[in-house]
Amino acid sequence: MPTPKRTPLIAGNWKMNGLRNSSQEIIQLRDHLAQVPSLNCDVLICPPFTLLNTFADLVHNTPIQLGGQDCHSAASGAHTGDISAPMLKDCGAGWVIVGHSERRSDHGESSQLVLDKAKAGLKAGLNVIVCVGETEVQRDAGETLAVVGEQLTHSVPAGSTAAKLVIAYEPVWAIGTGRTPTDQEIEQVHGFIRQQLTKRIGEQGQAMRCLYGGSVKPSNAAQILPLNDVDGALIGGASLKARDLIDVINHCN
Ligand code: PEP
Repeated sequence: MPTPKRTPLIAGNWKMNGLRNSSQEIIQLRDHLAQVPSLNCDVLICPPFTLLNTFADLVHNTPIQLGGQDCHSAASGAHTGDISAPMLKDCGAGWVIVGHSERRSDHGESSQLVLDKAKAGLKAGLNVIVCVGETEVQRDAGETLAVVGEQLTHSVPAGSTAAKLVIAYEPVWAIGTGRTPTDQEIEQVHGFIRQQLTKRIGEQGQAMRCLYGGSVKPSNAAQILPLNDVDGALIGGASLKARDLIDVINHCN
């Protein structure tokens, strides 16, 4: 099967960071990208819910896409403090991240719940990023592929398509720690994810983007982004500053 071309996706996850004055970072990013003659990657920012509306006005008609960091599995109802996928869409988001390890650990989210959230995102017309990844204990026990395989099987909706769904492999021990797996370790897991996706959804699995996430920054992007089956990055800390994100994006161009 010939390998389909997969446009890299550089996605920023701002987590619980950012106030309205962070708009200056989006403006700097937007104005920089306007000068780039041809952008070789898709660019996505997932700010806290509170900034989606403000940022949506700033990025209208630009290459910057917006996403939420989570959504409820229901479209509406008595769920105090939660945000639904249609609400994200209504705020100008085109994407939602589900199953981030901080949601799985801080909120005890199971793969079944992540699956329901992914389905809710797709139903609302959003593109969905499903996060998977092992803890350090699981890696040390040699369970990485088993854990990632279980998360893929149970969190990715049947019939998912490459146009609407992206996988992010994020080893939990690499998130926010400054540590990264070796190139071989990243390629091993990404190759495994590709194999599993292809087994499950055929050609769509070949075309589906698989991002690496975990301490990606300007100084290591040039090494990580060209690795086999790495189709971009999900970036936390280094996405908060436009300058850092621009440096990462430049490695795709
Ligand atoms: C993340 O939040 O998904 C992430 C990868 O964070 P960081 O880049 O800070 O490790």
